[in-house]
Amino acid sequence: MKYERTFESFRDSLEQILNLPVHSSDDFRELVNRWTDIEDQIEEELGWRYIRMTLNTENEELMRDYEEYYEGVVARLKPLLHELKKKIVQNERYAPFGFEHMLKVLKNEVELFREENIPLQVEETVLSKEYGAIVGGITVDFMGERKTLQQLSVYLRDPNRSVREAAWRKRFEGIWTKREELNVLFDRLKEIRHRQALNAGFSNYRDYAHRLKGRFEYTPEDLFRFHEAVEKEVVPYLRERLKVRREKLGVESVKPWDTEVDVDGKVLKPFKNVEELVEKTERVLVKIHPTFQERFSLMKEKGLLDLENRKGKAPGGYNHTLPKTGAPFIFMNAVGRPDDVRTIFHELGHAMHSFETLHLPTLYRPERMEVAELASMSMELISMEQWREFYESEEDFKKAKIEELEGTLTFLPWCVIVDAFQHWIYTNPNHTPKERYDYFAHLMDRFNPGVDWTGLEEEKRTRWLFQLHIFEVPFYYIEYGIAQIGALDVYRNYLKDPEKALQDYLRFLRVGCSSPVDEVYRTAGAKLDFSREHLREIVGFVAGEIEKLESSR
Ligand SMILES: [Zn+2]
Repeated sequence: MKYERTFESFRDSLEQILNLPVHSSDDFRELVNRWTDIEDQIEEELGWRYIRMTLNTENEELMRDYEEYYEGVVARLKPLLHELKKKIVQNERYAPFGFEHMLKVLKNEVELFREENIPLQVEETVLSKEYGAIVGGITVDFMGERKTLQQLSVYLRDPNRSVREAAWRKRFEGIWTKREELNVLFDRLKEIRHRQALNAGFSNYRDYAHRLKGRFEYTPEDLFRFHEAVEKEVVPYLRERLKVRREKLGVESVKPWDTEVDVDGKVLKPFKNVEELVEKTERVLVKIHPTFQERFSLMKEKGLLDLENRKGKAPGGYNHTLPKTGAPFIFMNAVGRPDDVRTIFHELGHAMHSFETLHLPTLYRPERMEVAELASMSMELISMEQWREFYESEEDFKKAKIEELEGTLTFLPWCVIVDAFQHWIYTNPNHTPKERYDYFAHLMDRFNPGVDWTGLEEEKRTRWLFQLHIFEVPFYYIEYGIAQIGALDVYRNYLKDPEKALQDYLRFLRVGCSSPVDEVYRTAGAKLDFSREHLREIVGFVAGEIEKLESSR
């Protein structure tokens, strides 16, 4: 069936809505409902086109379908949607209770809006896509075959150390062929971003981006405190863990290619095929909450799961909300590894969030990443208590748990490096590429958990070139670190009192983003707290859990 709604038909509906008179709180509500309905229709169609494209990347027509819709409909509707937001703000006096937070977010958007920034944003979007094209197109010869950088990453887990080293070095060799190009690209992006900030009356892009993301609950200084807390509380613990890794691997020092390989040389196999993955996932879910299992079954029956790795599928995993279908879609590339178990529960956390927030106005859905990732990361950890379903022996189960717990902390130094780097870049916009590399190397040393980079200075300085977010979605990264700490709060509560923690989690899912992030976190039983004290507590908790698991093995 051909899709019916064109740009023109959406434009007509929006113009109708823009002409609606507002004289009462019922009128105000009607305005927000009709806005939500339009956003839902757009999201649903964009969602299906995205899903079809990622399921079959070799079909160029599907990619065109997606881009056509994005550029021809979604992007073109933005000015009209902006008018609608303005209309809502202008009729603030008719807003019933419960719309305070929405008005705050909308006012912020309206205040930051600058006509002259529209062409700059279009240019930025087009340019930032070049990163993916450049890096995705890099191939190198490895063991007699042409490989992409992504394909090379698999070898970083190879038990053979020289294979790991060769693959690791090849990745840099590959990205260095495009080093100049990437630097020029980044400088242009930085320039365009800086100009947008100036247009909006800010002195730098960092402050502008902070406001643009609606981060009312914390300041850049709070994030600096978070960086420091990771440096002082997390890194020392990771140094201890790295010593254990060094001993187990029997190496003189842990080089960057030794951090991902399994130290026991054992490869866990939690499931054999997707049928088994689905079946075991259902068994875990029913033990957490029967509603979770029912919703997962519904997704399965409706054909809203595509879980197995196949040639032609895009990499990674995601959950896509489909507001008109009334249930989301989960996409992933399962091959039978422990990572896949984590991924399915991660995406299921997002999925349950989608289900629970469908009744809310569009702006109260899980828009803020700090909130969205708290749902998914908490689900990973809560579900972990039932992962015995995936592992034949108690021994393997414990091993999987230790890996998951350790992963929550090992991610943090890289997360804050990526964030701190961008703070520096955009508050020092006149730096040279050399100064940029130097500053990055400085951060790598500051947050180094003991990895030996001797003789790899050039690699160390240039490692940020691999991080897509820095190029494509500036300042979007620290949210993962914030949510990870929050999820550990939730998990700690869950171990103490599962019933209460689960009730809190469900309530948290249902409130979506209808209040500021710190309040939403409180609903979940988590704290939005960047202090050293809080991080010390969390690290102590994780270390204690790991110790319990290791001493009982
Ligand atoms: Zn996620």
